[in-house]
Amino acid sequence: MKASIIAVGTELLFGQVVNTNAAYLSDKLNHMGFDVMYHFVVGDNPLRLKEKLADAFTDTDLVLLTGGLGPTQDDITKEMVAEYFGAEMYEDERVVKDLEGFFKRRGGKMAENNLKQALLPVGCTPLYNASGTAPGFALSRDGKTAICFPGPPRELKWLFEHGAEDYLSDLTEKKMYYKVVRTIGIGESDLEMALMPLIDGQTDPTIATYAKEGECTLRVASQRDSMEEAKAAVEEMISNIREYVGRYIYSTDNEELNEVVVRLLREKNMTISSAESCTGGGFASLITDVAGSSEIFKSSYVTYSNEAKIKLGVDEAVISDFGVVSAETAEAMAEALYKATEADLCLSVTGYAGPDADKGHDAGEAYIGYMYKGNLGHVLVNTSRADRKWNRNYFRLRMLRAAYMLLSDQDMR
Ligand code: ATP
Ligand code: MG
Repeated sequence: MKASIIAVGTELLFGQVVNTNAAYLSDKLNHMGFDVMYHFVVGDNPLRLKEKLADAFTDTDLVLLTGGLGPTQDDITKEMVAEYFGAEMYEDERVVKDLEGFFKRRGGKMAENNLKQALLPVGCTPLYNASGTAPGFALSRDGKTAICFPGPPRELKWLFEHGAEDYLSDLTEKKMYYKVVRTIGIGESDLEMALMPLIDGQTDPTIATYAKEGECTLRVASQRDSMEEAKAAVEEMISNIREYVGRYIYSTDNEELNEVVVRLLREKNMTISSAESCTGGGFASLITDVAGSSEIFKSSYVTYSNEAKIKLGVDEAVISDFGVVSAETAEAMAEALYKATEADLCLSVTGYAGPDADKGHDAGEAYIGYMYKGNLGHVLVNTSRADRKWNRNYFRLRMLRAAYMLLSDQDMR
């Protein structure tokens, strides 16, 4: 079944609020086997909303709306949907009770306009909202269905999971299943070339590649009569993909690379430390983003100045002989870090984030040093970019990749 999403709210058009609700709903609908054809954004304007509703129902049979269900004057979504379906309004007793209870618990008096939220179109399936005050609802007629959700993302999610999902699964026969395969160390076009025998002429499952900063992901999706069939088709395709590019795959369970690194460290009962120059602690931040990292993370030194590097234990002569951005300095940092922290995996970075670099060097040039299982080594990174923000992020992602390669006993690439 074809579907559209209409997000209502002038704040979205002003760019003050990012339309995450549409992304959330699209993802959910795709998962369930609906074909999402359009995303619309409309301000809090009754006429334009009515127009878009008619547009959406011209090409699609299912329209999901978010926002504009609240008690204030500018909340018009419910009224416009009811009008489109030619439905009268009624006061829903359960919503009135819920509202009274809500304001009583808060110890305040309910403002009269709140009762507006208890009005619902006759014939709808209410979606009672235990995570806020405005209820959602689904309304179907002549093969056309509208489902309205409140704007706050938390409430949308709650109502989707408590009511809307069941309502939707009654509408669709096909079941959609997909998995995300994450890879590292191979570019998007190489990945696509390597998988050409599988991608060429594909109908189901489909394989789509996406490039993200420093890594590529594949989305493998199947739409079948039952969820079991769809799952089996996706799993079979993933095992085929493994035959071609298995060594680049680091996760098929939606695990991010920092989560995988932390998991590997925990499984191996190992610890990690970092000595960071141009990333300013960015790598440590990636590691400590992961819940449970306290078990494996020892410490991070932001050794930005030469003085700080020397204080950590780097020989001054190494810096003056080879330069502060050099393989030798990166390795000396990793070694000094090991002496200071005795972490099983010690990673360092020194580089030119840009926009400027010293003579004879490029902005975007960095050395990542490591000390692991008694071995000292380094990786050279050169982005050839002068973009400071981009470089700093890229360098820390390359440190993450180095950590992953070392921990999974793979050659650096
Ligand atoms: P309320 O009862 O809170 O007024 P409502 O259904 O009227 O609910 P809106 O007033 O349209 O919702 O939006 C409330 C808030 O929800 C917005 O200020 C914004 O922070 C968030 N929001 C609304 N629409 C979206 C959207 N499409 N994506 C992400 N957030 C949104
Ligand atoms: Mg509102």
